[in-house]
Amino acid sequence: MDRGINTRCLHLEETEGRTENYGALSFPIYQTATYAHPGVGKSTGYDYSRLQNPTREHLEKVVASLEKGTEAFALSSGMAAITLLFELFRPGDHIITESDLYGGSIRLFDNVSAKNSYEFTNLNCSVADIESEIRPNTKAIFIETPTNPMMNVSDIGKIADIAHRHGLLLIVDNTFLSPYFQTPLELGADVVVHSGTKFLGGHNDTLAGFIVTSNEEVIEKLRFLIKTTGAGLSPFDSWLILRGIKTLGVRMEKAQANATVLAKWLKGCNIVTKVFFPGLPEHPGYEIMKKQARGFGSMITFNADTEEHALKILEKVKMIKFAESLGGTETLITYPTTQTHADVSEEVRLKNGITPCTLRLSVGIEDVEDLISELKNVFENIDD
Ligand SMILES: *Cc1c(COP(=O)(O)O)cnc(C)c1O
Repeated sequence: MDRGINTRCLHLEETEGRTENYGALSFPIYQTATYAHPGVGKSTGYDYSRLQNPTREHLEKVVASLEKGTEAFALSSGMAAITLLFELFRPGDHIITESDLYGGSIRLFDNVSAKNSYEFTNLNCSVADIESEIRPNTKAIFIETPTNPMMNVSDIGKIADIAHRHGLLLIVDNTFLSPYFQTPLELGADVVVHSGTKFLGGHNDTLAGFIVTSNEEVIEKLRFLIKTTGAGLSPFDSWLILRGIKTLGVRMEKAQANATVLAKWLKGCNIVTKVFFPGLPEHPGYEIMKKQARGFGSMITFNADTEEHALKILEKVKMIKFAESLGGTETLITYPTTQTHADVSEEVRLKNGITPCTLRLSVGIEDVEDLISELKNVFENIDD
């Protein structure tokens, strides 16, 4: 029987019973660029760290096991992972993407991928008729669920069926839930991507990205691409992410418990006009989340009543940090309009529902009473 995910965050079965590395429980950081060969035509298994490094390889095995893929690739950031993945396509290929994506993904597709003559159709995949948008040159569907920042939820299994009827790859950015709460490959997705900077690393201290898949053709192409382009994660950063993953489960549970309390509390605040949290039963994605995920995560988006109040909240928070990023131990508040989604056109932002009143909370693992007390204080004194 497969072991539980908390166990898999700590133990790789294939290394059990072995005592190499002096039995060190913390996997060694192989801080080396190159490797001496035992003879001509012989290799220790490692030749040069751009191709592979033992610390990175160990991390890749852990992440593959968490996401239930046969192979994972660790890259220097989430955007490095998505950029590398899009090297799978050729000029003239058409890709259907969710319209409410992380702003950096939109920036990549609009500016870099478009320059390579890829064609894109952006849809709200939680409600759109995706199948009718498929063209003869369509190669893939790229989604996030829940989306960043509007928390729209799409049915991964249903979209996978559509993709496979037409021979397309379904790519899911699983950053918001992490494999602890959602494993898209088990639901039919072909490729999972991650910003490992977020929940996997979990401590707001390292950038990383992952691609995970069981598709042999994709694996072979990615091995070649990583060797050729060189965005593999460094040994030290690989070690930091390995260490972060050890506590993935306890962090995700605590952050989710905090977020659930906070989302309900926010709903009762006069200054808050709308709360987007898929763990609230009235959220349109609630039932799909219950079916396809093991939790709702700890990201909350909410609208303040006015733009002025939204900006004042950002000015007045102290313990909660006004910062980009998410998924770490500390609670962060983000202003998508000028931060994560600044390079997305105003027209697209508004169409997706990101207004100047929209704020995004990444709920951390502090005591929830202290988070509420800080926000209560900020809200009560908002007009001072
Ligand atoms: C942050 C983020 C990314 C980009 O990852 P980086 O590690 O910052 O490069 C991609 N997708 C989502 C959903 C993100 O939140």
